[in-house]
Amino acid sequence: MPESNHPHQHAQPQNASLSGVKNIIAIASGKGGVGKSTLSVNLAVALAQTGAKVGLMDADIYGPSQPGMLGAREARPDVAGDMLQPVKKYGISFVSMGLLIDNDGPVIWRAPMAMKIIHQFIGNVEWGKLDYLLIDLPPGTGDVQLTLAQQASLTGAVIVTTPQQVALGVAAKGLKMFEQVNVPILGVIENMSGFVCKHCGKTTDIFKVGGGEALSKHTEVPYLGAIPLDPEIMMSGDSGVPVLESGVDSPAAKAFLSVAKNLQTIVARVSATVSEDEPEQIELRKNGDLVVTWHDARVSNYNAYSLRINCPCASCIDEDSGRRTLDPKRIPLDIRIDSFEMIGRYAVALHFSDGHRTGLYAFKLLQALPEADSSGSFEV
Ligand SMILES: [Zn+2]
Ligand SMILES: [Zn+2]
Repeated sequence: MPESNHPHQHAQPQNASLSGVKNIIAIASGKGGVGKSTLSVNLAVALAQTGAKVGLMDADIYGPSQPGMLGAREARPDVAGDMLQPVKKYGISFVSMGLLIDNDGPVIWRAPMAMKIIHQFIGNVEWGKLDYLLIDLPPGTGDVQLTLAQQASLTGAVIVTTPQQVALGVAAKGLKMFEQVNVPILGVIENMSGFVCKHCGKTTDIFKVGGGEALSKHTEVPYLGAIPLDPEIMMSGDSGVPVLESGVDSPAAKAFLSVAKNLQTIVARVSATVSEDEPEQIELRKNGDLVVTWHDARVSNYNAYSLRINCPCASCIDEDSGRRTLDPKRIPLDIRIDSFEMIGRYAVALHFSDGHRTGLYAFKLLQALPEADSSGSFEV
């Protein structure tokens, strides 16, 4: 093990609150109006009905609607020390800003306050052992979404879209945000896809159906399925009884169970590959070079200069052409890495001594970069 005067930083997630959670899945959309909260509640209940232990975090702190949908508007979570106990309903554990406020009025937070609550939802909730934690993100692609993606060590993200949003290119925006922070996209769900008649059960396509599937083909992101616009889903939202609780025979309930099973298959595949790529340990040498110990005990040494000139950030590489815009001659040969920061389970952000700190080095990228000769060039 190389000596270092920096504190050893470990690549494992440090968060005790989430340490018993096997898979953390963000449910996101490019924009509001896709019925994402209703979908998250029903997907969580569907996953629980397959026998999994499921948690649900309502991160839509501006318009928390899940307590109502779960018939838990009056529930209040217990607090032990500085840890919040999630509320249990229909076989799932959940937290929501809606459980912490007393009136039904709109929640208005300034951004820093909102961020603080998100931090607490990540760090101060006693989730216990879970197979899946679904995080219902606020709609859009702003700071709250990015913070969560980077701090919660996401297994991946699910993009919810409607046929209209695919047509408008809104869903693609959501995909792009997660790609930028190296969070795998687990799949696309098309919501409000066709209308199920309450009387005869026949499905009518009131919007153009199949956009989610087309998007998935175009972007090579898995297609998890479509949820029909079933009046039962809306009625169940109002009554506080999720559609899967009132029976599994409705088209909506069947659709949720099918999406839940597809999601489980993909999550299993993705988490297997992620843990293969994830380093065991990352350290800095005294001279500011980087040492990565991989899962198979292989050790890679990276020279700080070589990492700097291979920086993958948007100011060093032209995003459209993929061409390097950074001139290596402008980088001092004795450049060092001052510190680094783990970004989820996919990447490390390097802070260089020239002040450059925008590069996120995905572990996959690191594995492809040239390594320094471990015998010579290091002062240990
Ligand atoms: Zn009919
Ligand atoms: Zn850069």
